[in-house]
Amino acid sequence: MSQSVRTRPEGSGQALSEAYDTALLDLDGVVYAGGQAIAHAVDSLATARAGGMRLAYVTNNALRTPDAVAAHLTELGIPTGAGDVITSAQAVARLIADQVSPGARVLVIGGEGLRVALRERGLEPVESADDDPAAVVQGFGGPDLPWGRFAEASYAVARGVPWFASNTDLTIPSGRGIAPGNGAAVEVVRIATGAEPQVAGKPLPPMHRETILRTGARRPLVVGDRLDTDIEGAFNGDVDSLLVLTGVTDGAKLLAAPPRHRPTYVDADLRGLLAGQPEVVEADGGFRCGGWTARAGEERLELEGDGAALDGLRALCAAAWTVAGEGVCELDPGKALARLGQ
Ligand SMILES: [Mg+2]
Repeated sequence: MSQSVRTRPEGSGQALSEAYDTALLDLDGVVYAGGQAIAHAVDSLATARAGGMRLAYVTNNALRTPDAVAAHLTELGIPTGAGDVITSAQAVARLIADQVSPGARVLVIGGEGLRVALRERGLEPVESADDDPAAVVQGFGGPDLPWGRFAEASYAVARGVPWFASNTDLTIPSGRGIAPGNGAAVEVVRIATGAEPQVAGKPLPPMHRETILRTGARRPLVVGDRLDTDIEGAFNGDVDSLLVLTGVTDGAKLLAAPPRHRPTYVDADLRGLLAGQPEVVEADGGFRCGGWTARAGEERLELEGDGAALDGLRALCAAAWTVAGEGVCELDPGKALARLGQ
């Protein structure tokens, strides 16, 4: 990676929706959670779009088709066309098409989203290892995927048929808790075969390439809640990112982020798209943002002042990331985060 090490969140005098032409938005933990829209998502996205920002939705979930995802978003009050949705199924279909003959057969272990994406690239989905596939592809199949599908994949992969995976997220959130994701399913075939798949999804370059090809974005902003998929994907693609705190990342995880997991900007939720971002400046041997000053102490991160909790977190990021450099900050953030109500 050519990027220098980020040591603090950046400021922006312009609203992010004006500074960037396209938002590449993650879905779960950003736009919705458990099927419901996240607070401020619907209004913020409508305002950003009315101001001229292109909105695209980028998901590692290969189960649902872009049509189904767009219909869900539209139902939540976010008018979306299928062309505004990019899935890891599309990214892996292109990755396969680049390596096999036109019209080749591909053994599918996964759902409808994967089959539709393969057909879009002119490939023929097949169901059995005996169908002479040129590739095997695994994508999230949902709770009803029969165990025998893993056997089909394993037979073909063990014979040396090239193996692809839409994504390797180990878990997938559901309304009832944390369920095994496609990464767990990939492990099943890996254990049976000892082989290694080519992977398309976030944070890997094929997914980012797919989003840029499909949106034509010139100055994209990746918006996500997960450091090791969304933010790392932006880092790998060398584009800017906004972390929102409506999903899986809390202050402690953010402060302990290695360079590839450090977002350009941090905000509470999607209202952050509509605002400028405050500068974090060096001051008094520490880092100041708004009314807060953060420092790296001997054993812990220190924070003094008052004001908006997010400014305190931004100042703490600068203190933590600066002391960590290319590594990970090991100072105790507990007391400082408690001052911010975290
Ligand atoms: Mg997410």
